[in-house]
Amino acid sequence: MSGNESRVQAIYQITNREPMSVKKTKPLDKIWACDVFNLAKMEESLSKNAFKAVKKTVHTGEPLSPAVADIVAAAMKDWAIAKGVKFFSHIFYPLTNITAEKHDGFIITNADGNAITEFSGSLLIKGEPDGSSFPNGSIRMTNAARGYTAWDPTSPAYIMETENGATLMIPSVFMSWTGEALDKKIPLLRSNDAMNKAGQKVLSLMGETDIAPLNSSCGAEQEYFLVDSNFANSRPDLLLAGRTLFGAASAKGQEFDDHYFGAISARVLIFMQDFEDKLYRLGIPAKTHHNEVAPGQFEIAPYFEAANVAADHQQLMMTMMKAIARKHGFMCLLHEKPFAGINGSGKHVNWSVGNATQGNLLDPGSTPHDNLNFLIFCGAVIRGVHLYGPLLRAVIASAGNDHRLGANEAPPAILSVYLGDQLEKVFMDIKDGKLASSDHGGEMDLGLRQILNFERDPGDRNRTSPFAFTGNRFEFRAVGSASSVSGPLVAMNTMLADSLNWIAEKLEARLASGSDQEDAVFAVLKELMNEHGNAVFGGDGYSTDWHKMAVEERGLKNIPTTADALPALREDSVKALFESTGVLSPVELESRYEVYAEQYIMSINVEAKLVVDMAKTVIYPAAITYLSDLTVTGTSLAEMNIELDSTVASTVAAEASAMMAAVGELSDAMEKEGFASAEEHMQYCANDLLGLMADVRSHADALEAEVADELWPLPKYQEMLFIK
Ligand code: ADP
Ligand code: MG
Repeated sequence: MSGNESRVQAIYQITNREPMSVKKTKPLDKIWACDVFNLAKMEESLSKNAFKAVKKTVHTGEPLSPAVADIVAAAMKDWAIAKGVKFFSHIFYPLTNITAEKHDGFIITNADGNAITEFSGSLLIKGEPDGSSFPNGSIRMTNAARGYTAWDPTSPAYIMETENGATLMIPSVFMSWTGEALDKKIPLLRSNDAMNKAGQKVLSLMGETDIAPLNSSCGAEQEYFLVDSNFANSRPDLLLAGRTLFGAASAKGQEFDDHYFGAISARVLIFMQDFEDKLYRLGIPAKTHHNEVAPGQFEIAPYFEAANVAADHQQLMMTMMKAIARKHGFMCLLHEKPFAGINGSGKHVNWSVGNATQGNLLDPGSTPHDNLNFLIFCGAVIRGVHLYGPLLRAVIASAGNDHRLGANEAPPAILSVYLGDQLEKVFMDIKDGKLASSDHGGEMDLGLRQILNFERDPGDRNRTSPFAFTGNRFEFRAVGSASSVSGPLVAMNTMLADSLNWIAEKLEARLASGSDQEDAVFAVLKELMNEHGNAVFGGDGYSTDWHKMAVEERGLKNIPTTADALPALREDSVKALFESTGVLSPVELESRYEVYAEQYIMSINVEAKLVVDMAKTVIYPAAITYLSDLTVTGTSLAEMNIELDSTVASTVAAEASAMMAAVGELSDAMEKEGFASAEEHMQYCANDLLGLMADVRSHADALEAEVADELWPLPKYQEMLFIK
């Protein structure tokens, strides 16, 4: 058997693959949310009073009374059982980026041995999974308690189907018995609350009398790669680390720009359509899909929803896209940098805040008064990015995202905010006192909607900014593709709450001392811009000038790695931010630092082990086989007086032994123990292990360019990226 047998087999399988048959899709109105127990279904099945109570809970977050919970549970069970469901599960969102679930049957047996079904309000509201092995930092080590899940009624229950059955899934929070948040959902709900309270304060100071609860919205654009499973399954690095740890560049990459927005191949389109029909059944509003920049890279974006629901849907989407891709013979890669040398994947988190009475507060309105509200909320975001830039960097930090940020494809690791030319000018004029109240003869034109309208054209957007205003929302563009959107949403909502509180205090003082409303707003925004305007940047975020200017003149931080970023979670200002807004206690925050640091260290360690394994057991043997082939052939050629080109053999010999020397160094480095702190350990991973891994790779990739193709065991970049 030749060394490239698995590659040849893979190509054969792919070329001869039967097209995937998918049932003809049904009209949207037949499938939309058909597997979701949403308000519409509750209205059909609940008494008027019970429905009213649930609706109130959904809109205000108030707890359900046990009596109503019983009624809802019964209706939910009946609905699910009629659809063939036998099991239910509280689904929750631990501090890893994946979801967790424990399934229970509805079944119990009675004295006669007959199966009956049971699902009470208390079972709906509270589950007790054995969560002791979820990473929780030190929160639960101290009291060794179990974790509890509790239904979040603001996120509807739904049914997950397989070919063989169906499970009722109940979106839940996950907490310790002492009430500490062990998950990503509780802080998100709390951050919405904090933002709502602060927003209400500001809006009432602005003279609004009818103010509905404020909520944040999120629309996340998800980038991903598809690689045929036949290739992916013979790459241990893709299987275990989600990215290639070896691989020479393909002769053709993305330089022709021929993939971006190109025609979608039939096989991929069939996958997308199958996937999207399943999303529709679950009430997830898939809205756009297209090819992305890199070959084999794609994007899907649902229409935006309330942040809490969007976060649950985003998580569900990631789980489903991996599973459905597998069915279509693909491995779906959500890693931020699966292939070196071509674009990685991000997740743009579009975020806005608003309510039913004032609308989207990040949308410039048509009246000057609406625009004062808009400017306040926008200003609050600017202050947030300036004060809490390092926090925003920390919540997007992961081993995977470190490969992407700061490379020339993704935003730099410096947090600044892009407003667009016109809005930037408005804020700079406010800062310079040129834009004051219209009463005083200034040429204030607050018909902002008109002047900002054409900036909504996506072509106008600054793609080099990590955090950009895009007409009626901010787009956090530095988020990694594998990450949950909850962390970024929590940080944005919380920094906004803090800024709105700051603004409310200042406004209140000015109004109390008799200032008129417009004057007060402009004075407060002027003060805000003087202190925080340094975060506003409209230029090229990739340029080295900016990297210098940001740090040296603007006092912003360039935070290249996760090891540098995560310690922001321990800073006093960040602790105070979360404690004062009631979003995370110091203990809860510290546990997040511990878990994320540990995850970073574990990811790098797994990768380092894989590098050693693959270099020793896959790549070195291929190189040696080639060398021995060359030697045998060389000997027989010599008998015929033909001389073999000796440079190949010497290059292969040299690279192979250099690689093994690098493997030796890496293995020794991995033995190191006894770090004084998680921070020191992270720095070691970032500064020592990653460099040594790159050394091994450079020799391995050089070997790939020399060794005969028929001996090379690992699917190559050109195969994985171009053969579908
Ligand atoms: P682009 O690629 O140009 O940024 P997309 O249409 O791919 O735009 O994605 C934009 C995302 O922003 C979508 O999920 C969209 O629903 C979402 N979005 C639009 N308006 C808002 C808003 N007010 N708040 C939050 N998200 C929004
Ligand atoms: Mg976008």
